[in-house]
Amino acid sequence: MRLVLLGPPGAGKGTQASVIVREYNIPHISTGDIFRDNIKRGTELGKKAKEYMDKGLLVPDDLVVSIVRDRIAEADCKGGFLLDGFPRTVSQGEALDEELERISLGLDKVINIDVEKEILLQRAMGRRVCRDCGATYHVEFSPPKEEGICDTCNGELFQREDDKVETVEQRIKVYNEQTEPLIDYYTRKGLILNVDGSKSIDEIFEKISQSLQG
Ligand code: ADP
Ligand code: ADP
Ligand code: ZN
Repeated sequence: MRLVLLGPPGAGKGTQASVIVREYNIPHISTGDIFRDNIKRGTELGKKAKEYMDKGLLVPDDLVVSIVRDRIAEADCKGGFLLDGFPRTVSQGEALDEELERISLGLDKVINIDVEKEILLQRAMGRRVCRDCGATYHVEFSPPKEEGICDTCNGELFQREDDKVETVEQRIKVYNEQTEPLIDYYTRKGLILNVDGSKSIDEIFEKISQSLQG
């Protein structure tokens, strides 16, 4: 299964991704996670990406596309993959199509998680992420058993630098301008699966897995 998760910042892409990849046994490719990992390790790529991420802007296409191209060529992607947060521009979508065409493959579905702005702000502002394993929590909607500590690995939970209100507002604006056109792009290809992201985490997953089976 080759899948893409589309949706505004804070919609719940990462949360759904972690359940979908377990169900389908495919790798979870999150470009945001790849950048955050590079920032943590202090790489050149991390330094460049951070400048954009801290401002709520997209990292330039040329930096993102080559990473994804290399990643989907790896052996563990032979049986499929889930892209989370990529593509984010029509030009990235076209680059992905070209690459998949080159290796005679196509996408199976593009899952579009739709959530209104008020909820996005609440979700992003309360998001907490594990420093060690990357697991995502929410202080109100999906809290860890013990405050500030990851349930699975006991790692420390932190708030992402770009989850402050001004930066989230900016990211939503960038999403509307640069990413939303991809909904049309994939609708025309007959790949879009629209999901109401205002529902609970379990209900959304239920809907997605039903539609993928059907
Ligand atoms: P994205 O990857 O789209 O930015 P996340 O999966 O990180 O979004 O979710 C953003 C925040 O909202 C996290 O704190 C997560 O725990 C919480 N969350 C995700 N899905 C839901 C949901 N359906 N209902 C309530 N909170 C949710
Ligand atoms: P969210 O889960 O809130 O949607 P991500 O973790 O996917 O956020 O992305 C965080 C930031 O990383 C983005 O605001 C952007 O700066 C950068 N980024 C991630 N993926 C891409 C991409 N495909 N193209 C450009 N920038 C990206
Ligand atoms: Zn953890």
